[in-house]
Amino acid sequence: MTAEHGEDLEQPEPLALQRAALAYAERGWLVLPLWWPSPSGWCACGPHDCDSVGKHPIPRLAPHGLHDATTRMDTISAWWRSVPANVGIRTGAESGLVVLDVDGRAGLLALRALALSHTTFQASWARTGSGGWHAYFAHPGTPVPSSAGRLGQGLDVRGEGGYVVAPPSLHGSGRRYRWASPQGAGDVPPLPGWLLEETAAADALVAAGREAGPGERKIRSTVSRGLEAGKRQPRQVLLHADLAAGRQGTT
Ligand SMILES: [Zn+2]
Repeated sequence: MTAEHGEDLEQPEPLALQRAALAYAERGWLVLPLWWPSPSGWCACGPHDCDSVGKHPIPRLAPHGLHDATTRMDTISAWWRSVPANVGIRTGAESGLVVLDVDGRAGLLALRALALSHTTFQASWARTGSGGWHAYFAHPGTPVPSSAGRLGQGLDVRGEGGYVVAPPSLHGSGRRYRWASPQGAGDVPPLPGWLLEETAAADALVAAGREAGPGERKIRSTVSRGLEAGKRQPRQVLLHADLAAGRQGTT
């Protein structure tokens, strides 16, 4: 990755969004319409105190939210004919997708620590509108629980029951989500085995913690210590997000 691609602010917005949604559906990814940020930065849902600007489903079009995500071309065409909705992609087995949400510098550092203690990996990368990253992986076939912060600070897993805001959606910051490659998502690489194991291990720890009752915070710190311990044997890792962090500083 040497350049940022997909600076598509000049494209006719509704058409670009509709085209992207249809293309995702064509590859079997279930899509759903999300509210979008108004030019003033407020969420088009109305209330000025919306805390999920441009990221939550539009009830009029998708009353069951995530569960209305579809690959039906006629439905998708109609949705994006009516509004310039942001594009949500349902993750998990239904779409055959797992997405790692890498938020800010903390997320990059946590991912780097994980990758250093395992092996190199590939993903289809998208830049989020907030300056973070989404790493898209092919779903392994066994359930991948969605989680927030369990793998490390700033690392969220979007698997079963989750969704992501996808390119070329507009972020409240005024920036668009965009694919890191000019080829877009391309062939989405498989979820690395170690990442699946880490996800399952973190989930099991949290589940055990809930039964024992010490609360998730303690469990999360246990996981973090485990990750710290995993830094011992650094290998040569080509980590796209790392390179980007070095180039752009704190995101
Ligand atoms: Zn809103």
